[in-house]
Amino acid sequence: MSSEEVVRIAQQRGFFFKTAPSYPNAPAGFLDYGPLGVALKARIIELWRRMIVKRDGMIEIDGAQILPKAVFEASGHLSSFTDPFVRCAKCGSVYRPDKLLEEKTGKAVPEKLSDADYDSLMAKAGVKCSKCGASLSGTTRFNMMFRVGIGPAGEEAYLRPETCQSIFVDFPLLYKTLRAKLPIGMAQVGRSFRNEIAPRQGLLRLRELNQAEVEVFFNPKKTDAPMYEWAKGEVLSFRTPDGKDIKMNVGEALDGAIIPNMLIGHYLALITRFYEAAGVPRSFQRLRILSDEDRAFYSKAAYDLEVSIGTGWLELVACNYRGDYDLGGHEKASGTDFTVEDGGEKVLPHVFELSLGVDRSTYVVMEVSMKGEGDRRTMALKPYLAPIQACVFPLVNKDGLQEAARSIVADLRESFDVFYDESGSIGRRYARADESGVPVCITVDYDTLKDSTVTLRDRDTRNQQRLAASDLVARLGDLTRFPRIEGPAPEP
Ligand SMILES: [Zn+2]
Repeated sequence: MSSEEVVRIAQQRGFFFKTAPSYPNAPAGFLDYGPLGVALKARIIELWRRMIVKRDGMIEIDGAQILPKAVFEASGHLSSFTDPFVRCAKCGSVYRPDKLLEEKTGKAVPEKLSDADYDSLMAKAGVKCSKCGASLSGTTRFNMMFRVGIGPAGEEAYLRPETCQSIFVDFPLLYKTLRAKLPIGMAQVGRSFRNEIAPRQGLLRLRELNQAEVEVFFNPKKTDAPMYEWAKGEVLSFRTPDGKDIKMNVGEALDGAIIPNMLIGHYLALITRFYEAAGVPRSFQRLRILSDEDRAFYSKAAYDLEVSIGTGWLELVACNYRGDYDLGGHEKASGTDFTVEDGGEKVLPHVFELSLGVDRSTYVVMEVSMKGEGDRRTMALKPYLAPIQACVFPLVNKDGLQEAARSIVADLRESFDVFYDESGSIGRRYARADESGVPVCITVDYDTLKDSTVTLRDRDTRNQQRLAASDLVARLGDLTRFPRIEGPAPEP
């Protein structure tokens, strides 16, 4: 199904839509979630929590969105969280030179070129303003953080461009007060803000975005543990920097130096499994290995988890071995000791990060779940992710069927998110429920009044089955339960 079609259904069914839709000229890069989107996003986050955060006994925090300037001086964002841009001398339109070059030449432009490199490539390709045809200025830099002023004096501060900085700056306090031991994961879900120059990918490049991030702190000398062994046999797809696709298990990737250590293998396998459980088949996923040039200078290894959708490969998670760059930087700038004791040794922990884009992931889960064509579409969401877990319909709106249906809704509402719908033909009601991802519909008819049974209709098979209304709670409970939290319990 095309991306436009998915976006249209998302808007029509109340999943998400562009911010301030009443204002045609509202800026791009912002999105509002409607009721179904709120619920779907919350359930995807809950699945992530269960399969990664709780599974490995991690600590979850919720930090402030505004952070002092000093934090971003130490993290390097103030000096280098920038994008290149060029401006039209005549009409004032602003562009990213890499995007213009890609459009003009049809070739990918390497990340991290210097401004002079962009200028010479632009001159060579003869790129002009795509709106008015006039010449463009030379490349300059724009810092993508949103600056805010605290109090009347306007003390310089910034909206965080990623959630992880509060994990890093809170690390010494959390580690001590929670009596943590290495390795320890710290996680956070929340909003981040990036003042993108020209977000043209609609809902996929946002200026205000939701992230779910995990920072795993570990002793670089201890990256093997029995709890990682399970991952050795997990087969993953890698895309090498020179464009080769290879499939191998984590054990082989470790032997072939594609993965630097078993701890990282464990987390790459775990994040792959998370998307599988969210409904994205492993065959739709790959780990793109970032080349030395594409990685940040401090990064020891980096992989983008990408998913194949209608428009191509889309990055969902940045998986980055950041070494001790973050803790070292904040240690130096803050004057606080960031080292910890580990087996009688003083260590500045290394970090492996899984930085997951929640909005993109929500979109991808919807797109890969869409089946069918024409006016018969089904969003085949995993039942535990479905925003509405069951619809209840009276067959007709008379003779006490509505009351019987409402009383079933009242019973189910205690444990589930159910939706009562009495408008339109049964066929139309089924179609709306299918398009909204509702796994089952419950229909109340004349037999219900006689013997308290109902019809349960399955979204994916469209099979219908008769069962006692009193069995509905147990049946829906089985159907919508999250997968078990797998894996070794953390050591007490
Ligand atoms: Zn122009």
